[in-house]
Amino acid sequence: MPRVVVVGAGVIGLTSALALEEAGHDVQVIAAAKGPNTTSAAAGAIWYPFKVGPPDKVSKWAGATRRWLVDLAARHPDAGVDVLERTELSNSDAMPWWAEATPGLRRVEATPARPLPNGAKYGWLFDAPRCDPPIFLAWLERQLKKPVRIEKIAALTDLHRRENADFIINSTGLGARSLTHDTQLQAIYGQTVIVAPGAINIQHCMGDERDESRMFYSIPRRAEVVLGGCAEPCPDDRATTTTRAMTDSILSRAASMGLEPGPVLRESAGLRPYRPSVRLERDAHEPGLIHNYGHGGAGYTLCRGCAAEVVSLL
Ligand SMILES: Cc1cc2nc3c(=O)[nH]c(=O)nc-3n(C[C@H](O)[C@H](O)[C@H](O)COP(=O)(O)OP(=O)(O)OC[C@H]3O[C@@H](n4cnc5c(N)ncnc54)[C@H](O)[C@@H]3O)c2cc1C
Repeated sequence: MPRVVVVGAGVIGLTSALALEEAGHDVQVIAAAKGPNTTSAAAGAIWYPFKVGPPDKVSKWAGATRRWLVDLAARHPDAGVDVLERTELSNSDAMPWWAEATPGLRRVEATPARPLPNGAKYGWLFDAPRCDPPIFLAWLERQLKKPVRIEKIAALTDLHRRENADFIINSTGLGARSLTHDTQLQAIYGQTVIVAPGAINIQHCMGDERDESRMFYSIPRRAEVVLGGCAEPCPDDRATTTTRAMTDSILSRAASMGLEPGPVLRESAGLRPYRPSVRLERDAHEPGLIHNYGHGGAGYTLCRGCAAEVVSLL
């Protein structure tokens, strides 16, 4: 049985590890941090392709992930995945680039009798699986045969010899920069405000990225609602602290969408590991090393499709 070491315990590493185990491999996950100390814990985390590329591959990976998450929602309620309805506001009636991966996508048009928020002309409605990150990450970890080993890896080059592994999967998110010197990787800061549901319908998500400087989303979890957000390119070492000004701005955007949240519970921030193209390939110099990082604002949206491709690359 081939022995595989997955480096990274965010949503990408854990999903890769699970798919590899299901395919019959002997898998060990090694990570500097897990659970709440990963970027994955800061996510919304709704199925929606945001800040990620390239479009053709993203559509394929997102479609596969969507089918897997819908199935998990039906068969494993303890995984923390639920299928919600999402409305994405738009000023264009042209099909969005992610339409191919979104069966059942339908367009609604604003009318004087039924206006859409913030003067939007159209809304795209679709069913979107949403993961509750603390529940989902813990569930993924529980499915694995071996516990995650906490260790910071200094170099990938010698790892397969040291670990006696046939394959190494690099799922280190933004951490890949120091391990691979990848100049295409770009941190994108995002902040959210987590509120009690108040009068928000927790079966429904809203998204509006028509003006990225005032982008907005509301993503209900099981007992709270995540309001966001922003997407600010920044250095890798930007602190993931939140600002009062951004919190106030997000709350005022929520009000302008007609949402009435309950009290603020906490604020959160994280750095999306963005790359113009997700890096999912065999390393050119080390055939036993496979990279799977750079999922930007869509790690949850692509995780299973990318994991399946990792399995096929082995
Ligand atoms: C505010 C915000 C909202 C978001 N909302 C959504 C959303 O709604 N939907 C969606 O699909 N995505 C969303 N995202 C994006 C999503 O969170 C990321 O795409 C995803 O978390 C990336 O997962 P990852 O496993 O690659 O990285 P991470 O979660 O960062 O995990 C990386 C792992 O690698 C480990 N690691 C790094 N370097 C080393 C090293 N040298 N040695 C050992 N281990 C190492 C880390 O400890 C960690 O375990 C959002 C992100 C943010 C910030």
